[in-house]
Amino acid sequence: MKLDATDLRYITSDEFRVLTAVEMGSKNHEVVPTPLIAQISGLRNGGVNKLLGALAKRNLVARVQNSRYDGYRLTYGGYDYLAMRALSKRDSMYSVGNQIGVGKESDIYIVADNEGKELVLKLHRLGRISFRAIKEKRDYMGKRKSASWMYMSRLAAQKEYAFMKVLHEHKFPVPRPVDQARHTILMEFIDAYPLRQVSELPSPGALYSQLMALIVRFAHAGLIHGDFNEFNILIRRESGEPIVIDFPQMVSTSHLNAEYYFNRDVQCIRTFFRRRFGYESALYPRFRSTLKDGEGREDKEGEEFRLDVVVSASGFKNSEQKVLEEVRVVSFCVRCCCFRC
Ligand code: ADP
Ligand code: MG
Repeated sequence: MKLDATDLRYITSDEFRVLTAVEMGSKNHEVVPTPLIAQISGLRNGGVNKLLGALAKRNLVARVQNSRYDGYRLTYGGYDYLAMRALSKRDSMYSVGNQIGVGKESDIYIVADNEGKELVLKLHRLGRISFRAIKEKRDYMGKRKSASWMYMSRLAAQKEYAFMKVLHEHKFPVPRPVDQARHTILMEFIDAYPLRQVSELPSPGALYSQLMALIVRFAHAGLIHGDFNEFNILIRRESGEPIVIDFPQMVSTSHLNAEYYFNRDVQCIRTFFRRRFGYESALYPRFRSTLKDGEGREDKEGEEFRLDVVVSASGFKNSEQKVLEEVRVVSFCVRCCCFRC
């Protein structure tokens, strides 16, 4: 799907009101009936129909008409639009450039801010694959009738942003987070290539040790990345420094399955280094001894250093973590230990 930057500027204020009304109506309705859209937007019924038609033409909303429903739903395009408009209103971004990544659960674009500086916009796309499976887990949704893709994608973005902020503040090698709106996050563009693309290294052992040390550093801060692999490690073009990305699945070291996630992260790196560089080492971190080393988990200033706790306190609720985790379990591939295939 294409993102159209010009759309950001050329939408009438009435169209915007109707689009926002569809979004608001979506909180309680899978398909929002037209009279409700009219009511929320405070516009006349006839006028609303025309505006909805115009929005549908631009794929910002979609008409749904069947035996159960008659109305409109917000499309990903519409949600993208609302998020980007919010970001541009706050002067965080100005224009959209090329798409640089299509994951199963996100789209990545290069964008620019007002000064023409490149940034990365990540649009979360949860529910694209396993929406039905999520819906079967409704008990986790609390009072919500349906785990809509909008809600899940927004949670993923909020979680990722919360973690990136805390990690960046504590000088972990992660992109600098810039802003967050709805299901999107805006962050520093890293001039790098994924480790996946690296076919030769002068000294694989050096990078291997760096990556294992990073896993340990995360754990000492109470965190496990949870998807620590060659796709989510970027190698800076200039310095060769590894930068870690992609945080919606991070878990706390106090998580029930912490050991499993920790070992899987370690194993992913070991397997990759063996297959790609023929590099094997008897040295690799174990969950138990790692945590024992880090007992008390205090940083140099003696402050408590539990970033998992810091993130919880920053407003991303544990109950929301639970909802997200359910989705992750659903889309996790047991054959090759990844969330991709
Ligand atoms: P997904 O959840 O879809 O895997 P990622 O956050 O891993 O999303 O990003 C997908 C790809 O986009 C990465 O493998 C990387 O190539 C690129 N990418 C993501 N963030 C950045 C960034 N800040 N700077 C440069 N490239 C990035
Ligand atoms: Mg990724």
